[in-house]
Parts: sequence; structure tokens; C-alpha cells
Amino acid sequence: MPDQLDWIPADIDVDRPSNARVYDYFLGGAHNFEVDRQLAEQIIRMTPNVGDTMRANRVFLRRAVRYLAGQGIRQFLDIGSGIPTAGNVHEIAQAASPGSRVIYVDIDPVAVAHSRTILRDDPYTVVVCADLREPADLLDRARATGLLDFSRPVAILLAGVVHFLPDSDDPAAIIGRLRDAVCPGSYLLLSHVTGDGQPPEVLAAYDLSGQTDSALRLRSRAELARYFDGFTLVDPGLVFLTTWRPEPGDEPDEDPQRTAAYAGVGILAG
Ligand code: SAM
Repeated sequence: MPDQLDWIPADIDVDRPSNARVYDYFLGGAHNFEVDRQLAEQIIRMTPNVGDTMRANRVFLRRAVRYLAGQGIRQFLDIGSGIPTAGNVHEIAQAASPGSRVIYVDIDPVAVAHSRTILRDDPYTVVVCADLREPADLLDRARATGLLDFSRPVAILLAGVVHFLPDSDDPAAIIGRLRDAVCPGSYLLLSHVTGDGQPPEVLAAYDLSGQTDSALRLRSRAELARYFDGFTLVDPGLVFLTTWRPEPGDEPDEDPQRTAAYAGVGILAG
């Protein structure tokens, strides 16, 4: 199977689930191992909602990138970008506006290796291996690619990644470092799991993330609102995933709280 050689880096731990590969399995991808599938199936047995949340997160990300492209954004810094799947950020952004530029950043070796393989012929996209917990280094690596012009607006995408940072990493300060690197008119996109209003089985399923390379930290809406310090949230604010600007044709979601995750987009004022 030649494809396997492309995406399995030599020195990864295949005995411990990785959150990137578990997420890939939930999205129907093929870049995961038995250990990842077993954990995902255990989560599904506890609560089928978690899979719905992951898919709803992906749909939100696509809607929000289309929205950002509609606001004139042509540069994207996608941090915690994950293992590529259908409808990646560069595909959405370039379909809306050809020539849009995307830097994908991830800490997971499989996500980075596979992204590099499928993007090697795209001159407007690069992949950087970096850690969100080291924002200065991450920004240095992003600048070193020369792909983005930081004197012009950039959308910082933090979809489904900040919940892997414990409070001891001070996510608000990390996001502040990223904010300080971009100019007015730039955007912050965030999606993040929450325990707000969730039943015990959902909380227990999220606890299983402790078996992967990083455990999830659920946060309340009030905690997440702080991460937009300096940004002005665009309508409809910080809301459950499926209620962020649903598009014509989307099924109305009768119970948005079921997604157990918030989403929001903010613009950096001048
Ligand atoms: N952003 C994509 C999305 O919303 O569909 C993928 C989200 S996936 C749930 C989370 C990704 O964040 C994984 O690929 C994981 O490797 C990455 N990640 C976790 N901690 C990270 C860190 N400290 N720095 C960079 N990436 C990280």
C-alpha cells in the first residue's frame, strides 16, 4: 500500500491514540490506526453526539471560511488544522477567491505529513509543524514561509484546538500573542467544546480524551468570550456550532446545545 508510506512518519507512537487521528476516524477518514478506532468506538457507545459535534464543527468551519472570504479575507493561518479531509480551508477559500493563501499548522506528525503530501503542488498553501503553546516560535515559522503578508488582514483559525490546552498554558495569553501579530481588520475564528448544559454521559465521553496525547478541557461561554479580548464578535456572537450563520438549505437544528461546542468569529478593531 504505497499511500501508507506517505502519511505514516517513521517515529510515531502507534500504541497510543492521537486526537488528530481519532477526529479523522469520526469524519470518515482513512488516516487512523486500530488504537484510534477503538477509542472512537468506545466514545460512540457512550454518546453518539460526539461524532455529530465533530461533523458540525467541520461544517461550521467551512461556513465561517466562506463568510471570511466574503469579507475580503485572502490570508488564513489555520492552527490545529488536522488531517486533511474533504472541504479543507484552502479549498473553500480558493473556491471563493482564487489565490487565497493558507498556512496550515499542526503539532501532529501524521497531520503534517499527510497535509504536505496532498498540498505539495499548491503554491498558495504551506504546512508548518509547530505548537500553539509556543506562539512566538509558531509565528516565526509562519513568517519564515513568506506566504502571508502580516501587514494585511489575516484570519487566525483556531477550530477545535484550544480545548486541548489546559488552563496552565494560559490560552488567553497565547491568543493575545497571536492577536498582537496581526493588523486591524484581521479576524479570529474559534470553536471549542463546552460542558454548558451537558448531560453526564457527554461529560464522561469527553473524559476519555485523557487516553489520547492530550486531554480536553471543556470551557464555559463566559470563559471563551475572554479569548476574544480586542476583537468584536460578529453576529450572531458566540453560539452553539449549528446556529452560527446557518446557510439556506441547512436543516434547522432543534437542539443546538446537543453539539456541546461553541463557535464564534471576531474582527480586530483598528
Ligand atoms: N481544525 C480542524 C477542524 O476543526 O476540523 C481539526 C481539529 S482537530 C479536532 C484538532 C487538531 O489540533 C489536531 O490535528 C491536533 O493534532 C491539533 N493540536 C492539538 N494540540 C495542538 C497544539 N498544541 N499545537 C498545534 N496543534 C495542536
